Amino acid sequence: MSVTATPVPILKDNYAWLLRDSGSGATAIVDPADADPVIEAIEKAGGRLDMILLTHHHADHIAGVDAVRARFGCPVVGAAADMHRLPRLDQAVKEGDTVRLGEGAGTVIDTPGHTRGQINFFFADGAVLLSGDTLFSLGCGRLIEGTAREMYASLRKLAVLPPETLVCCGHEYTESNARFALAVDPDNAALHAFVGKVEQLRAAGQPSVPSVLADELDANPFLTAPDAASFAALRAKKDKF
Ligand SMILES: [Zn+2]
Repeated sequence: MSVTATPVPILKDNYAWLLRDSGSGATAIVDPADADPVIEAIEKAGGRLDMILLTHHHADHIAGVDAVRARFGCPVVGAAADMHRLPRLDQAVKEGDTVRLGEGAGTVIDTPGHTRGQINFFFADGAVLLSGDTLFSLGCGRLIEGTAREMYASLRKLAVLPPETLVCCGHEYTESNARFALAVDPDNAALHAFVGKVEQLRAAGQPSVPSVLADELDANPFLTAPDAASFAALRAKKDKF
């Protein structure tokens, strides 16, 4: 019994994530910003929705929430810190809180940086991380509200999760992130192997995500940055890349 995660492509390059607890059949959707494709994916998966999870308040993560809630009548979970700018929350959570999905349990991790109230969810049973716009495959979120020091600390919290953790992020940015990663770390063999797999998946019309945390730790320059100052310099360079 464990939690599985399936990406649902929405909008231009966003992913909502369909979570399913195999023991109970309980299902959740993460960041349903576009109601129609999300409702279609839920119907295809059996038409059951137990919960909506939100990583942060940006429109490309929350815009479909009210329509999906109206269709399935399920509770919405998001950051207590961002209650004032999220859709109405039925469960307002903070660092260390637990979200129940059937027999699965997701731990809330505060990950400020991209936004001040950003949260991630980690389901240990299944090793599923919903990383929102904090950690992307081969990249990380832009510092829209937080500081480089905050984002670096957030990424260090994710880096210590089990190496087999599946990184389920909010966007298909991997190929563009790969170009930057190769520019700053051209001799990294693990990165080249990673990018080769991504190119194959994308050429076949498949999502490049989820990725595996162990691979990100070897190849993602924002995770291999040795300290907050190096991270800040790297993030600034990427902003101009
Ligand atoms: Zn965002």
